[in-house]
Amino acid sequence: MDHLIISGPCSAETEQQVVSTAVKLASFKKIGLYRAGIWKPRTKPGMFEGVGTVGLKWLQNAKRKSGLPFTVEVANAKHVEEALKHETDVVWIGARTTVNPFIVQEIADALKGTNIPVLVKNPVNPDIELWTGAIERFVKAGLLPGMVHRGFSSYRKTEYRNQPMWQIPIEMKRRFPEFSMICDPSHIAGKRNLIQKISQTSLDLHFNGLMIETHPDPDNALSDCEQQLKPDDLLSLLNSLIWRSEKNIDTVPNNELEKLREQINQIDEELLFLMGERMKIVDKIGLFKKENNITILQVERWNEILRRGLDAARSLKLSEEFIKQYFDAVHIESIEHQNKIMNE
Ligand code: PEP
Ligand code: MN
Repeated sequence: MDHLIISGPCSAETEQQVVSTAVKLASFKKIGLYRAGIWKPRTKPGMFEGVGTVGLKWLQNAKRKSGLPFTVEVANAKHVEEALKHETDVVWIGARTTVNPFIVQEIADALKGTNIPVLVKNPVNPDIELWTGAIERFVKAGLLPGMVHRGFSSYRKTEYRNQPMWQIPIEMKRRFPEFSMICDPSHIAGKRNLIQKISQTSLDLHFNGLMIETHPDPDNALSDCEQQLKPDDLLSLLNSLIWRSEKNIDTVPNNELEKLREQINQIDEELLFLMGERMKIVDKIGLFKKENNITILQVERWNEILRRGLDAARSLKLSEEFIKQYFDAVHIESIEHQNKIMNE
């Protein structure tokens, strides 16, 4: 499934929209799978909740006219039953479903015995075990899962609708190298102008494909109107992407990359050695605090370390976010070291 492009509307709205979008996308000769949501999980009641089963008939018609296989979101066993009755080629599990092991199991049981591939979106929350568990349930049911990275919800508002947290899909690729990882930049971005950048990042991380929402009149779409692209804009975006290959590395003469990687390995070794040395000093401080009955946590001292780090970061071109996370991790490790000493 390498280089798979999945596209189509967030929601099926009318038969005309579903069929004409499919025919248009098929004409690009770049789309491998057509998508449309017919049962829509919406955050609030009263929003458009999808056209329901009739949409499957529209999708069958779209398949006949365009030649494109199609995928729909299923969120319970009944949806699976309907999807199977209407020549659905692939089903996907939405982010709000992956969070619920009961429903994931119900869907896995309903699909058992078919050879329908299942694309499993990441859960809404950044819980790698929940995503892993869902994949395992489908594998156990004898099905072929793929993974879709659509970003993670967070309380803190950023430029993204859903935080990419790339380390999570990267870890999933490590855990399940045999299954495809598709990026859904539409739901990560939440708005059109970020989709290209996110798509390229995913390809540079060797993802196997993209799922991008398209609509003939995005501004008037009944769901996700800010993030859907007109089909022609999708085509320009796809033409702008660079698909790099892991295999190219072996064919690069005089492998410059190997030398740079060796430098990185050495620097990492030095960093780890220095961290070990740092923790030995932390242990001495822990002993001192214990003997003098001083608390481990000294908030003022901690603020000072952070401030110094952030000052240094600016001139080193390291991001503030990274430095905060780095010092948080170092701090937790230091406190654990000192705790151990206090309790000895
Ligand atoms: C969708 O693909 O339209 C959708 C509802 O996605 P998610 O489950 O990722 O929110
Ligand atoms: Mn959507």
